[in-house]
Amino acid sequence: MGILNRIVQSTAPWMPKKVIGRIASVYVAGDKLEDGIDLVRKLNKKGFVGTLDLLGEEVKNRRGITKTTNSYCDLIDGIANSGVDCNISLKLTAIGLKVDESLCWDNLSVILDKAKMYNTFVRMDMEDSEVTESTIKMCKKAVNYYPNCGTVLQAYMYRTSDDIDLLKGPNTNIRLCKGAYKESKDIAIQDYNKIRENYVECAEKMIKNKVYSCFATHDTWIIERIEKLIEKNNFPKNNCEFQALSGVPIDKVLDELVSKGYTVRYYIPYGPDWYPYSIRRIRENPDIWKDTMKAFFFRSKHRK
Ligand SMILES: Cc1cc2nc3c(=O)[nH]c(=O)nc-3n(C[C@H](O)[C@H](O)[C@H](O)COP(=O)(O)OP(=O)(O)OC[C@H]3O[C@@H](n4cnc5c(N)ncnc54)[C@H](O)[C@@H]3O)c2cc1C
Repeated sequence: MGILNRIVQSTAPWMPKKVIGRIASVYVAGDKLEDGIDLVRKLNKKGFVGTLDLLGEEVKNRRGITKTTNSYCDLIDGIANSGVDCNISLKLTAIGLKVDESLCWDNLSVILDKAKMYNTFVRMDMEDSEVTESTIKMCKKAVNYYPNCGTVLQAYMYRTSDDIDLLKGPNTNIRLCKGAYKESKDIAIQDYNKIRENYVECAEKMIKNKVYSCFATHDTWIIERIEKLIEKNNFPKNNCEFQALSGVPIDKVLDELVSKGYTVRYYIPYGPDWYPYSIRRIRENPDIWKDTMKAFFFRSKHRK
């Protein structure tokens, strides 16, 4: 780890909350559900759709888990009542995956029942490798119960190509991303260019498997290749979408995708837990400070 990264990692918890707040506001819509909905409304007007994520990850106590489950139900109600074009993203560890799988399933069923009422799509984000297997298992079970849901696969994992086949089915909907967690070289590709190459190979497999394919990346090298794959394979534009984190300044690339007829979905985090979330992210992966500074100084105009 470089010296600057070490400094960022060790000083992050001591930085004034106000400073962290200013930086987090580049990505986070705000504390409240209405903040998230307002941002989605703004983005809808500009031709984008959204996915709202209630910030916060692993919850260990049952009360907290129930609270998170209820908040997700409120989120689904909020989306339906406001009429915005948006679905939801959630982390299974926030509803009990690491505590007890059957508790997690019970809570997920509550959320899926609510989503079913409005036909809202539910995305199960992928977290660290400790829960890759259980997340995929939970998703496979959930799709049988409520087809309008799906999970995420990470291109840095060696297993991802096999997982694409494992998830193949009539209602499969996969988000493909590079992967955000530090993983060991035994299970995950470490080289930047090899991750890119694997991303493109996995994307091609998803296209060939004819699954609904969501390409979550800000990497223009990958986006260009995927557009070519879509054309080469005559893959319908309405069977795929591009996804980006709201706040990342790649407005021009995303505007072009929209003008070509693609669906582009912004991932929008919101919620009162933005502070511990931001500190944890910086400590886990101090490299992100470089991207964060870029987003801070070259603001995305889509949020205005
Ligand atoms: C919609 C969406 C959903 C995701 N879901 C998951 C998930 O469920 N599980 C998971 O492990 N990971 C998830 N990720 C994170 C993903 O795995 C990567 O860590 C992240 O997207 C960075 O990879 P990249 O493909 O953008 O490529 P990079 O090579 O990291 O970035 C490409 C370019 O974009 C810029 N950039 C990237 N990120 C930022 C940023 N935050 N701020 C400013 N500039 C930036 C870089 O500077 C670079 O120029 C998700 C990402 C997105 C966009």
